[in-house]
Amino acid sequence: MKEIVSADFEKEVLQADKVVLDFYSSECPPCEALAPKFESLAAIYGDDVKFLKVFRQQNRDLAERLGVHGSPTLVFFEKGREVGIRLTGGIKRSEIMHNLNSMISPDKVNSIKSSLKPFTSHYDVAIIGSGPGGLTAGLYLCQARVNTVLIDTGLPGGHVSLTHQVSNYPGFIDPQPGYMLSHNMSEQTKKCGSVFKVAVDVTKVDLEQKEIVIDEYETIRAKKLIIATGTSPNYLNVTGEKEFKGKGISYCATCDAKYYVDKEVIVIGGGNSAVEEAEFITKFASKVTMIHQFDKFQANKQAQEKLLANPRVQVLYRHEPRSFSRMGDKMAVVVEDLATKQTRELLTDGIFIFVGLKPNIDLFGGNLELDNWGYLKTDEDMRTNLKDVYAVGDVRSKKYRQITTAIADGTIAAINITRELDS
Ligand SMILES: Cc1cc2nc3c(=O)[nH]c(=O)nc-3n(C[C@H](O)[C@H](O)[C@H](O)COP(=O)(O)OP(=O)(O)OC[C@H]3O[C@@H](n4cnc5c(N)ncnc54)[C@H](O)[C@@H]3O)c2cc1C
Repeated sequence: MKEIVSADFEKEVLQADKVVLDFYSSECPPCEALAPKFESLAAIYGDDVKFLKVFRQQNRDLAERLGVHGSPTLVFFEKGREVGIRLTGGIKRSEIMHNLNSMISPDKVNSIKSSLKPFTSHYDVAIIGSGPGGLTAGLYLCQARVNTVLIDTGLPGGHVSLTHQVSNYPGFIDPQPGYMLSHNMSEQTKKCGSVFKVAVDVTKVDLEQKEIVIDEYETIRAKKLIIATGTSPNYLNVTGEKEFKGKGISYCATCDAKYYVDKEVIVIGGGNSAVEEAEFITKFASKVTMIHQFDKFQANKQAQEKLLANPRVQVLYRHEPRSFSRMGDKMAVVVEDLATKQTRELLTDGIFIFVGLKPNIDLFGGNLELDNWGYLKTDEDMRTNLKDVYAVGDVRSKKYRQITTAIADGTIAAINITRELDS
């Protein structure tokens, strides 16, 4: 693996056969997460593909010329031309391998696959999920000198990193950007010395054996497991929703509101998330139409009052969406008036859906005890019904799902586990 600068690009990339180029930056957690994966793949594919790195901050001209706007970004080249899919953000090992495999012969792919040696690593505690709940458990365990690994399919931080502002996390006088709060939480846990395996594919979890397989070839074995996988947005399951997800329909205002400057959007939902995120969207969009099935919002009063006082906002109460489709550069939403049963079509630039959340438990099989809504039941010490398996945060059955309640769960689980391991 080699580091290049802009002046080397012509010779090292354009005149070479096969190249993968990593644009990285300093103080960039996803770049740090990528570095060991890039290095290990260079050792495997290095005979066929040249692995190069460019420090983006000092080679801005090259980054701009190639349209690279974020770090890390991996760009793949074959005989001087860009090939494959550009990868950016929390890049998974499997995504890089997919691109690399398409650049080499099928025989070579097979020989690489058969040469990969699975291995096992051992920890006292494995935490699945690194949102506030998992990160707090990781911090307490690390400070108690318990050998701990945190595993996440994405980057550390969970929902908080996608929340534009958090105003109710104690200790800060002013509202904090969610990404900053989650960054500080994960850096604090990292600095203590916890091991992070992030942006990985979690392919198998065996709760009885306390084994987790990541990226197909690494097995993590632990004495105790903490499930901290949080929740994912619910789908409406309305015609066109899956087809236009990411192409006009979004579930994340922090990620996508910026694309709707001076445009009109529809927000579906009426709980806290819908009302707070709609408020955020009004900073960009010229008009926000809320569609809500009931005759008033369920969100907290303060958030409702703020939203409803905003002249950019209008509300269709007692309406539900029935289908989504595209009409030229607009999205079309068919809505039904639940009182009259009449339908009509609304045109908009984009749609945001916030209709609740569901627990991320698909990987864990059927032996865990759940409540009626599919959340994991625990006792007060965060123990599930399975021996040495704990659950913390939003994935757990409880009344209030907030950052403060997730970190409280993480604290309780970690202190209990530390005592059990010590006894
Ligand atoms: C839009 C929105 C705004 C919010 N605003 C606020 C607010 O202002 N104040 C407040 O207190 N709370 C707020 N909340 C709630 C708060 O974000 C959550 O209560 C909190 O993040 C829960 O933390 P957690 O660690 O349990 O789960 P999460 O934050 O959901 O983190 C779960 C982690 O697990 C990972 N994961 C998922 N599946 C797997 C898997 N199979 N294997 C490995 N890893 C996996 C995810 O990638 C994620 O990193 C908001 C929530 C939303 C959705």
